[in-house]
Amino acid sequence: MKTRAAVLHEMGATTPYSESKPLTIETLDLSEPQENEVLIKIKATGLCHSDLSVINGSRPRPMPMVLGHEAAGEIVQIGDRVTDYEIGDHVVCTFIPSCGHCIPCKEGRPALCETGAASNATGEMIEGGYRLQSEKDDVMHHLLGVAGFSDYAVVSTNSIVKVDKDIPFEKVAIFGCAVITGIGAVINTARVRSGSTVAVIGLGGIGLNAIMGAKLAGASEIIALDINEDKFDLAKKLGATAVFNSSDDNIVEAVKDYVQGGVDFAFETAGVVPAMDVAYKITKRGGTTTSTGLPDPKHEFAFPQVTLAAEERTIKGSYVGSCVPDRDIPHFIKLYKQGRLPVDELLTDTLSLDDINEGFDRLARGEAARLVVTMDN
Ligand SMILES: [Zn+2]
Ligand SMILES: [Zn+2]
Repeated sequence: MKTRAAVLHEMGATTPYSESKPLTIETLDLSEPQENEVLIKIKATGLCHSDLSVINGSRPRPMPMVLGHEAAGEIVQIGDRVTDYEIGDHVVCTFIPSCGHCIPCKEGRPALCETGAASNATGEMIEGGYRLQSEKDDVMHHLLGVAGFSDYAVVSTNSIVKVDKDIPFEKVAIFGCAVITGIGAVINTARVRSGSTVAVIGLGGIGLNAIMGAKLAGASEIIALDINEDKFDLAKKLGATAVFNSSDDNIVEAVKDYVQGGVDFAFETAGVVPAMDVAYKITKRGGTTTSTGLPDPKHEFAFPQVTLAAEERTIKGSYVGSCVPDRDIPHFIKLYKQGRLPVDELLTDTLSLDDINEGFDRLARGEAARLVVTMDN
């Protein structure tokens, strides 16, 4: 069948993207789903910094590639061996397919699936190969096994979670990446305790979710930091008890004055070394600093090693919020429906597939928490 999709042919385009247009909307051929795959009519796909990192080349992927991973839609066809899903199911895509058989999967850490990491690196499906083709290109790669900026997508059942049908697609899509990554970092990775103090550096989609997660966990102080003060109002609305401009020269002293000695848990969500540096320095003795961002692979973070032992400090990494998607996405959706996770506040705007380059300009400029492309199929 045919599908309209946003294709990236070359990384590193100049900004603004509204002029360089790195993503082109093309009509591609899409194969039938294989045994353990489904065909999804995509309804909504969020614009995420992970897509932007491929566009600007800081996280290189094989080209050409259809981007988009924070996707939601309806199953319209199932492969021969699919038993857990049926036509008409609403699903959210997850961006690490998990095979269920490798050691990390068996340990209950599907975010670290070795088979999924390998297929994501080569831009293939976890079952192997590609399902998209164009007339011009021999191979068309899939971003993270999803390739969600498309009217339709063939996706492995290892990459989807069934969700309630009564939530609009443009909202439920956000649960697939931003929500599980941000809230998961707080709840699953760092295991924030009620009454503890928290700081979140970087107030994009992940950081704002980390704030909601900290509120959910019962943090006594939730300090929000960003270089862009326009984000402070939303951060406060979602639960931040104090806001600081992280580019201030005396930011470390200011936070340590506000919370005596620093915070119990600091979260870096900006994916840049200066943010991690602030996060580590404002973590108190005995505290935990968690990194969720994905910086340029060449960038290195340095810190005084003595602090690890002498201050019993912990540094953690959190990938996809250490989530088990089948467990956590339905759980977070339940909290959302109870009014305890105001995910609606994160949806800045919806746009059409044709306006996707302008959307990435807005994301790159930090103007939006979440922008979501909605398909009019
Ligand atoms: Zn993402
Ligand atoms: Zn696995």
